[in-house]
Amino acid sequence: MTTLQTIQRRDTLGTFAQKYNLSVQALAKANNLKDPNLIIAGKSLRIPDGFDDKPFRAGAASTSESKTASRTEARAAAGSGPKPGKGWGGSEGMADAAKKIAKQMGIPVTSQKRNAQQTANVNSTKNSDHYTGNKNAFAVDFGVSGKKGDKLAKAIAKKYGIPARNIGTFNKHTVEIDGKKYALQLLWKVSGHYDHVHLGIRRVS
Ligand SMILES: [Zn+2]
Repeated sequence: MTTLQTIQRRDTLGTFAQKYNLSVQALAKANNLKDPNLIIAGKSLRIPDGFDDKPFRAGAASTSESKTASRTEARAAAGSGPKPGKGWGGSEGMADAAKKIAKQMGIPVTSQKRNAQQTANVNSTKNSDHYTGNKNAFAVDFGVSGKKGDKLAKAIAKKYGIPARNIGTFNKHTVEIDGKKYALQLLWKVSGHYDHVHLGIRRVS
């Protein structure tokens, strides 16, 4: 999710970098600023969420620990839990369970798939699970912060069988449903993810 913030008189890029846990360079790049020291009060600054982009590496989650965890979680997920479905190798359908939870909590979806231009605008890479060019991946962002964000992240983790220790980690969790394996990342309260919960799902086999 990219948000826009209005620049106040005393602001510097450093102010925003600190507030949103980003680097000054990332902010300058996202706003096409030639001189990071020159920002103008009253104008809007684009706050990117570049951290959606840590690539999934297929198979990287296959440690013995996560294999055991996956089996248990796959059973848990098979009942009323997530199911693969339409689009992007089934990963879009997998995301429906999280969207349902968020909807019940009144939390909006703020970003899903992005075309090449939108991907560039949020200072993201084409390897992002948000990028429409990724035919096996789907990502969804829920705009929420604070305690409500904690609650949503926990509820989504529970639904997908993601252990609490894996919230905010990249590529540590896989779920197997109907013989298909999906890598999931649930990002919350990590760099770039304080104002939204990110769920990325990628079919890996
Ligand atoms: Zn995201």
